[in-house]
Amino acid sequence: MSATSVTPKALAIHGGSPVRETLLPYGRQSLEETDIRAVVDVLRSDWLTTGPKVAEFEESFAVRVGAGHAVSFSSGTAALHGAAFAAGLKPGDEAIATPMTFAATANCVLYQGATPVFGDVCRDTLNLDPEQVEARITSRTRAILAVDYAGHPAELAPIQEIAKQKGLLVIEDACHALGAEYRGRRVGCIADMTVFSFHPVKHITTGEGGMVTTNDPRLAETLRRFRNHGISSDARQRQKAGQWHYEMVLLGFNYRLPDIVCALGCEQLKRLDANLARRREIAGCYTAAFREVPGVIAPSVRADVNPAWHLYPIRLNLEKLTADRAQIFRALRAENIGVNVHYIPVHYHPYYRDRFGDKRGEFPIAEDAYERLISLPMFHAMTDADVQDVVCAVRKVMNHFAS
Ligand SMILES: *Cc1c(COP(=O)(O)O)cnc(C)c1O
Repeated sequence: MSATSVTPKALAIHGGSPVRETLLPYGRQSLEETDIRAVVDVLRSDWLTTGPKVAEFEESFAVRVGAGHAVSFSSGTAALHGAAFAAGLKPGDEAIATPMTFAATANCVLYQGATPVFGDVCRDTLNLDPEQVEARITSRTRAILAVDYAGHPAELAPIQEIAKQKGLLVIEDACHALGAEYRGRRVGCIADMTVFSFHPVKHITTGEGGMVTTNDPRLAETLRRFRNHGISSDARQRQKAGQWHYEMVLLGFNYRLPDIVCALGCEQLKRLDANLARRREIAGCYTAAFREVPGVIAPSVRADVNPAWHLYPIRLNLEKLTADRAQIFRALRAENIGVNVHYIPVHYHPYYRDRFGDKRGEFPIAEDAYERLISLPMFHAMTDADVQDVVCAVRKVMNHFAS
């Protein structure tokens, strides 16, 4: 036994040695030699942007999620903007959204001059509560923006039922949920439009990048025009047809995803199933390990879904702990576990408070969850030793602060 005051079990914030020597991030990409070769091949080709790799990536993506159409964008945020535009959102309109998300989900409504109206979330999944949606519909509501929080699909069936009754469009922000399934159907072919991101922490990456999938050919056409200045054909189509003439038919942006990174997307997509399997395995290890840890509430999974596990957000049972989330967060970081918090509710951000008034207190379930949430490292390249480090650090910190 050590006679010093700093025992091996001492928390790193109290001067003990950390569970690991180097910081384990909460998420990160994995790249293979084949990814690099595919990108280099495009660099040596004729098309750096809007060439054959864009179409190839979009087609294989559409097939993978079972959607009729996939339209790539330069980021998930640009893809959300495209979806908000294609949904016809305009000043005076409202879209109902969850506050438990990254600000970009609600910002896309503001880009269109429309107003995001938040609804509280379900206690178990932290996904938009269909009853809250129903309660917030007005004559101005045009769309519902659901997020598949952490990769657990939103309550799509009841939300679509409401949308059908009221003539609204459903936009699903599935930036966490590539590869997830809801009632046996793949996320990407269920909502009117489904939005994905290829940021490096997501399931597959193109550096920056995004996609909208839809089964509606008219929405797909609008999305294609919107991401290319509102022009009704692309340069490659014109070159093939030997034409110089083009028409700008709506006010779009340059939100194109270059061939260079679409080649990367094609390669990454081939490993999606392997990435998903590993994330599901890690989630299983965590959930089993935390069953016995006081103070930790593991994320719950409904019987009718197969989540994609972008995040693994635990909630702290603060009633059984002598520390708050900030202290536990700092203690885990000191152990070199790169924990994070997803999310600061969107209505807490100063921009939203200044523009729409201080709505804190209106969404008690999301707000209470926010006080308790900590995202543990979750990415497909984590080793078994990384997973054990996280489990060990969580046990160490929670046992220390158990009341
Ligand atoms: C990552 C993410 C986005 C934004 O995607 P970018 O590609 O970073 O623009 C939007 N919504 C959610 C829920 C996300 O996780």
